[in-house]
Amino acid sequence: MKKFLNIFNKVLDVVYPNHVKCVFCGEETSETSVYDCCKKCWHELPFIKSSCPRCGGPILEGSSGVCLDCKRNNYDFDQAKSVFIYEGKVLSAVHRYKYNACLNFSTPFAQFMAEIYASWNICPDYITAVPMFKDKEKERGYNQAKCLATELSKMFNLPYIDFCVKVTDNPSQTNFSFAERSKNVLNAYKFNREHKKLIKNKTVLLIDDVFTTGATSSEVSRVLKNAGASAVYVLTFAHTIRKNLKV
Ligand SMILES: [Zn+2]
Ligand SMILES: [Zn+2]
Repeated sequence: MKKFLNIFNKVLDVVYPNHVKCVFCGEETSETSVYDCCKKCWHELPFIKSSCPRCGGPILEGSSGVCLDCKRNNYDFDQAKSVFIYEGKVLSAVHRYKYNACLNFSTPFAQFMAEIYASWNICPDYITAVPMFKDKEKERGYNQAKCLATELSKMFNLPYIDFCVKVTDNPSQTNFSFAERSKNVLNAYKFNREHKKLIKNKTVLLIDDVFTTGATSSEVSRVLKNAGASAVYVLTFAHTIRKNLKV
Protein backbone atom coordinates (compact mmCIF):
# COMPACT_ATOMS: atom_id res chain seq x y z
CA MET A 1 0.00 0.00 0.00
CA LYS A 2 2.76 2.40 1.03
CA LYS A 3 4.68 1.61 -2.13
CA PHE A 4 1.60 2.24 -4.24
CA LEU A 5 0.97 5.61 -2.54
CA ASN A 6 4.57 6.64 -3.15
CA ILE A 7 4.30 5.79 -6.86
CA PHE A 8 0.94 7.59 -7.05
CA ASN A 9 2.45 10.72 -5.50
CA LYS A 10 5.39 10.59 -7.89
CA VAL A 11 2.99 10.42 -10.85
CA LEU A 12 1.09 13.41 -9.45
CA ASP A 13 4.36 15.31 -9.13
CA VAL A 14 4.98 14.84 -12.84
CA VAL A 15 1.45 15.78 -13.92
CA TYR A 16 0.99 18.63 -11.41
CA PRO A 17 4.49 19.73 -10.39
CA ASN A 18 3.29 22.10 -7.66
CA HIS A 19 0.28 20.19 -6.44
CA VAL A 20 -0.45 20.37 -2.74
CA LYS A 21 -3.39 18.52 -1.29
CA CYS A 22 -4.87 20.00 1.85
CA VAL A 23 -4.39 17.37 4.59
CA PHE A 24 -7.74 18.33 6.15
CA CYS A 25 -10.14 18.35 3.16
CA GLY A 26 -8.14 16.62 0.43
CA GLU A 27 -8.70 19.46 -2.06
CA GLU A 28 -5.88 20.55 -4.33
CA THR A 29 -4.63 23.91 -3.18
CA SER A 30 -2.34 26.35 -4.89
CA GLU A 31 -1.42 27.96 -1.58
CA THR A 32 1.98 26.87 -0.46
CA SER A 33 2.64 26.58 3.22
CA VAL A 34 4.53 24.13 5.37
CA TYR A 35 1.19 23.02 6.86
CA ASP A 36 -0.31 21.67 3.59
CA CYS A 37 -3.58 23.29 4.60
CA CYS A 38 -5.98 25.32 2.45
CA LYS A 39 -7.23 28.74 3.56
CA LYS A 40 -10.78 27.53 4.16
CA CYS A 41 -9.69 24.74 6.49
CA TRP A 42 -7.19 26.97 8.25
CA HIS A 43 -10.03 29.22 9.43
CA GLU A 44 -12.08 26.25 10.60
CA LEU A 45 -9.36 24.39 12.49
CA PRO A 46 -10.03 23.94 16.23
CA PHE A 47 -6.78 25.41 17.56
CA ILE A 48 -6.50 25.34 21.36
CA LYS A 49 -6.42 29.02 22.21
CA SER A 50 -6.42 28.86 26.01
CA SER A 51 -4.92 25.78 27.55
CA CYS A 52 -4.68 24.18 30.98
CA PRO A 53 -1.17 24.87 32.31
CA ARG A 54 -0.79 21.22 33.32
CA CYS A 55 -2.36 18.94 30.69
CA GLY A 56 -2.65 21.39 27.77
CA GLY A 57 -6.36 20.74 27.31
CA PRO A 58 -8.65 23.61 26.30
CA ILE A 59 -9.98 25.85 29.06
CA LEU A 60 -12.27 28.87 28.93
CA GLU A 61 -10.46 32.03 28.00
CA GLY A 62 -9.61 34.04 31.07
CA SER A 63 -9.96 31.14 33.52
CA SER A 64 -7.06 30.48 35.82
CA GLY A 65 -5.68 27.33 37.41
CA VAL A 66 -5.76 23.78 36.14
CA CYS A 67 -8.73 22.07 34.46
CA LEU A 68 -11.14 19.63 36.12
CA ASP A 69 -9.21 16.67 34.70
CA CYS A 70 -6.02 17.82 36.37
CA LYS A 71 -7.82 18.32 39.66
CA ARG A 72 -9.06 14.74 39.50
CA ASN A 73 -6.14 12.91 37.91
CA ASN A 74 -2.61 12.48 39.02
CA TYR A 75 -0.38 12.60 35.94
CA ASP A 76 3.22 11.45 35.94
CA PHE A 77 4.39 13.87 33.25
CA ASP A 78 5.48 17.40 34.16
CA GLN A 79 3.44 19.23 31.56
CA ALA A 80 1.58 18.48 28.34
CA LYS A 81 0.61 20.59 25.34
CA SER A 82 -1.45 19.97 22.20
CA VAL A 83 -2.11 21.91 19.03
CA PHE A 84 -5.79 21.14 18.39
CA ILE A 85 -9.00 20.01 20.00
CA TYR A 86 -9.63 16.50 18.68
CA GLU A 87 -12.81 17.15 16.72
CA GLY A 88 -14.14 17.90 13.22
CA LYS A 89 -11.52 18.19 10.50
CA VAL A 90 -8.68 17.40 12.88
CA LEU A 91 -10.34 14.18 14.02
CA SER A 92 -10.99 13.00 10.47
CA ALA A 93 -7.46 13.92 9.33
CA VAL A 94 -5.95 11.96 12.24
CA HIS A 95 -8.14 8.98 11.31
CA ARG A 96 -6.89 9.09 7.72
CA TYR A 97 -3.33 9.48 8.98
CA LYS A 98 -3.64 6.41 11.19
CA TYR A 99 -5.84 4.07 9.22
CA ASN A 100 -5.43 5.06 5.55
CA ALA A 101 -1.63 5.07 5.40
CA CYS A 102 -1.51 8.85 4.83
CA LEU A 103 2.11 8.99 5.87
CA ASN A 104 2.61 12.22 3.93
CA PHE A 105 0.67 13.90 6.79
CA SER A 106 3.63 13.41 9.14
CA THR A 107 5.52 16.50 8.00
CA PRO A 108 2.63 19.01 8.02
CA PHE A 109 1.30 17.61 11.32
CA ALA A 110 4.77 17.90 12.85
CA GLN A 111 4.99 21.49 11.55
CA PHE A 112 1.94 22.41 13.61
CA MET A 113 3.50 20.72 16.65
CA ALA A 114 6.80 22.49 15.99
CA GLU A 115 5.07 25.84 16.53
CA ILE A 116 4.03 24.77 20.02
CA TYR A 117 7.45 23.33 20.81
CA ALA A 118 9.27 26.45 19.61
CA SER A 119 7.25 28.67 21.94
CA TRP A 120 7.56 26.30 24.92
CA ASN A 121 10.25 27.13 27.40
CA ILE A 122 11.73 23.63 27.74
CA CYS A 123 15.09 22.13 26.81
CA PRO A 124 14.70 18.38 26.36
CA ASP A 125 17.78 16.21 25.93
CA TYR A 126 15.88 13.59 23.94
CA ILE A 127 12.70 13.05 22.02
CA THR A 128 10.76 9.78 22.06
CA ALA A 129 7.32 8.48 21.08
CA VAL A 130 4.61 6.40 22.72
CA PRO A 131 5.41 2.93 21.36
CA MET A 132 2.93 0.56 19.73
CA PHE A 133 2.68 -3.15 20.37
CA LYS A 134 4.98 -4.74 17.77
CA ASP A 135 2.30 -6.86 16.03
CA LYS A 136 0.04 -3.83 15.70
CA GLU A 137 2.86 -1.73 14.29
CA LYS A 138 3.69 -4.48 11.83
CA GLU A 139 0.05 -4.65 10.73
CA ARG A 140 -0.20 -0.87 10.25
CA GLY A 141 3.28 -0.59 8.79
CA TYR A 142 4.27 2.36 10.97
CA ASN A 143 3.79 3.99 14.36
CA GLN A 144 2.27 7.42 13.69
CA ALA A 145 3.59 8.84 16.98
CA LYS A 146 7.12 7.81 16.02
CA CYS A 147 6.70 9.37 12.56
CA LEU A 148 5.78 12.69 14.19
CA ALA A 149 8.64 12.41 16.70
CA THR A 150 11.25 11.69 14.03
CA GLU A 151 10.05 14.69 12.00
CA LEU A 152 10.39 16.93 15.06
CA SER A 153 13.74 15.35 15.86
CA LYS A 154 15.01 16.42 12.41
CA MET A 155 13.52 19.92 12.69
CA PHE A 156 15.04 20.67 16.09
CA ASN A 157 18.11 18.48 15.99
CA LEU A 158 16.92 16.55 19.04
CA PRO A 159 18.18 12.97 19.33
CA TYR A 160 15.34 10.45 18.92
CA ILE A 161 15.57 7.36 21.14
CA ASP A 162 13.17 4.41 21.44
CA PHE A 163 13.26 4.43 25.22
CA CYS A 164 10.26 2.16 25.76
CA VAL A 165 8.55 -0.82 24.22
CA LYS A 166 4.94 -1.85 24.56
CA VAL A 167 4.84 -5.33 26.04
CA THR A 168 1.11 -6.05 26.19
CA ASP A 169 -1.60 -5.54 23.63
CA ASN A 170 -4.24 -4.06 25.92
CA PRO A 171 -7.83 -3.86 24.62
CA SER A 172 -9.14 -0.74 22.92
CA GLN A 173 -9.62 2.09 25.39
CA THR A 174 -12.43 3.98 23.67
CA ASN A 175 -14.94 5.37 26.18
CA PHE A 176 -12.76 4.43 29.16
CA SER A 177 -12.24 6.94 31.96
CA PHE A 178 -8.78 8.01 33.12
CA ALA A 179 -8.94 5.54 36.03
CA GLU A 180 -10.01 2.66 33.76
CA ARG A 181 -7.38 3.54 31.17
CA SER A 182 -4.69 3.83 33.83
CA LYS A 183 -5.51 0.33 35.03
CA ASN A 184 -5.58 -0.87 31.42
CA VAL A 185 -2.13 0.47 30.57
CA LEU A 186 -0.44 -0.24 33.89
CA ASN A 187 2.76 -2.16 33.13
CA ALA A 188 1.94 -2.21 29.40
CA TYR A 189 5.25 -0.38 28.71
CA LYS A 190 8.78 -1.40 29.61
CA PHE A 191 11.96 0.61 29.56
CA ASN A 192 14.53 -0.52 27.03
CA ARG A 193 17.43 -1.21 29.41
CA GLU A 194 20.13 -0.68 26.81
CA HIS A 195 19.42 3.07 27.19
CA LYS A 196 19.70 3.06 30.98
CA LYS A 197 22.86 5.18 31.05
CA LEU A 198 21.47 7.72 28.60
CA ILE A 199 18.37 8.68 30.53
CA LYS A 200 19.76 9.38 34.00
CA ASN A 201 18.76 12.92 35.07
CA LYS A 202 17.73 13.83 31.55
CA THR A 203 14.67 15.66 30.26
CA VAL A 204 12.55 13.81 27.70
CA LEU A 205 9.97 15.10 25.23
CA LEU A 206 7.33 12.42 24.69
CA ILE A 207 5.27 12.53 21.48
CA ASP A 208 1.86 11.05 20.73
CA ASP A 209 -0.80 11.82 18.14
CA VAL A 210 -3.78 12.25 20.48
CA PHE A 211 -4.07 12.99 24.20
CA THR A 212 -7.29 11.28 25.27
CA THR A 213 -7.38 10.97 29.06
CA GLY A 214 -3.64 11.25 29.52
CA ALA A 215 -3.41 7.75 30.98
CA THR A 216 -1.05 6.48 28.26
CA SER A 217 1.26 9.51 28.34
CA SER A 218 1.25 9.36 32.12
CA GLU A 219 2.15 5.66 32.23
CA VAL A 220 5.00 6.06 29.72
CA SER A 221 6.22 9.07 31.73
CA ARG A 222 6.16 6.97 34.90
CA VAL A 223 8.28 4.30 33.19
CA LEU A 224 10.74 6.95 31.91
CA LYS A 225 11.03 8.52 35.36
CA ASN A 226 11.47 5.16 37.07
CA ALA A 227 14.35 4.59 34.65
CA GLY A 228 15.98 7.86 35.74
CA ALA A 229 14.49 10.72 33.66
CA SER A 230 14.30 13.93 35.69
CA ALA A 231 11.42 15.45 33.70
CA VAL A 232 9.01 14.36 30.98
CA TYR A 233 7.05 16.76 28.77
CA VAL A 234 4.32 15.57 26.44
CA LEU A 235 3.47 17.05 23.06
CA THR A 236 0.51 15.78 21.06
CA PHE A 237 -1.17 16.86 17.85
CA ALA A 238 -4.68 16.86 19.32
CA HIS A 239 -6.44 16.73 22.69
CA THR A 240 -9.83 15.08 23.29
CA ILE A 241 -12.55 16.82 25.24
CA ARG A 242 -15.04 14.53 26.83
CA LYS A 243 -18.68 15.50 26.46
CA ASN A 244 -19.38 15.51 30.17
CA LEU A 245 -16.51 17.84 30.89
CA LYS A 246 -16.86 21.57 31.31
CA VAL A 247 -13.95 23.42 29.70
ZN1 LIG B 1 -8.71 22.17 3.18
ZN1 LIG C 1 -5.60 20.02 32.74
